Order: sequence, then C-alpha cells, then structure tokens
Amino acid sequence: MNADRIEHFRERLEFLAKEIKSDLASNSDDAGIVELDSSIGRLSRMDAMQHQQMALELKRRRENQLLRIENAYKRMDEGRYGVCGKCRKPIDEARLEVFPDVVTCVSCS
Ligand SMILES: [Zn+2]
Repeated sequence: MNADRIEHFRERLEFLAKEIKSDLASNSDDAGIVELDSSIGRLSRMDAMQHQQMALELKRRRENQLLRIENAYKRMDEGRYGVCGKCRKPIDEARLEVFPDVVTCVSCS
C-alpha cells in the first residue's frame, strides 16, 4: 500500500479513535456500580443491573476496538498495514474503508 493510502487510513483510524474515546467519556456514568438500595423496587433494580451489564459490555467492546486501532498504527509503522495477518494477502481496501482496524481479509475472518 502506498504512503498516500496509509495516510488516508491513518486519518480514518484517528477519527474512529476520537469517536470511541468521546463515547467512553460520555458513558462512563452508566458503567458505575448499581446501588443495591432497597428504596428502589426489585424490578427496577434488575433493570438497572441489566442496563449496567449492557453498558459494561459496550465499554469493553469500545476498549477492545481502541486496542485494535493502536495495533493498526503499529502495523503501519512496521509496513504491515493492510496485509492479512493469516494468509499475508492484501486486504481489500473497501473492507479497510469500513473497518480500518481489521487484521484479516474477508476469507480469513
Ligand atoms: Zn487472509
């Protein structure tokens, strides 16, 4: 992949990372500990806990994606970006356009 394309995908990754970071910042309250306060009913407490589980899961996914973005930068620096980690063939650029942090091509994923 040439330097211009790398630069393009680097910008995509930066945009994505910024989005995820602001999501993480704005949703940090949701992942807080649910108070097991008896003043709220049992059902709404279960609701709150379910909501908390979902928020935690979402947070975990976002953090994983940030890690994948970091790894993508690393691969760019090492000249391995856009190359499938399994079969070593180039990853389709249309795929990278949608998921700039992917490490495998369509057939290996
Ligand atoms: Zn592959």
